[in-house]
Amino acid sequence: MSRLDSVIERLKAQRACIDAACAAISGLDGPVLELGLGNGRTYDHLRDRLPERRIFVFERQVSAHQDCIPPDEDLFLGDFADRLPDAMSRIKRPAALVHADIGTGDKAASVALARSISAYLVDLMADGALLLSDQPFPDPRLEPCDLPAGVPPGRYHLNRKTA
Ligand code: SAM
Repeated sequence: MSRLDSVIERLKAQRACIDAACAAISGLDGPVLELGLGNGRTYDHLRDRLPERRIFVFERQVSAHQDCIPPDEDLFLGDFADRLPDAMSRIKRPAALVHADIGTGDKAASVALARSISAYLVDLMADGALLLSDQPFPDPRLEPCDLPAGVPPGRYHLNRKTA
């Protein structure tokens, strides 16, 4: 598979997972949390798919496309580790969906980052909420869900918070 094929497959899988997660939370109230704004691609997709939901974004440094920058009141600017612990005071209600796209080229560092913020993130989720992520998030309150057909195992991670 060429590098171009690989990028296309990765983005198609990401879109399929986001679309499946958006459909799966239709009966659950609550905002969406987006960790990792990047250039704003997935934020833009989430707000297209879930126009009625408020989307809070966590990002260290905003460098997204101008059209994909969230309003100040929905942006948690800074390191995840600093912004997640007291985020509920602004979010006000548990999230129905978290999308965490936080990886860098350093796989070990990305896995360690997810592990270090996992408990804070799951604390912000409603019972029954979904966590869709590019890295594994270990937490005893999470149980794995099936990925959409055609998405290779391990490409993305979909988990539901249990009570
Ligand atoms: N979802 C984005 C998109 O579709 O354009 C791509 C996100 S990119 C893979 C990961 C983002 O996470 C980067 O913008 C990076 O700055 C942010 N990030 C990584 N580690 C972070 C941390 N510890 N605290 C805050 N932001 C972080």
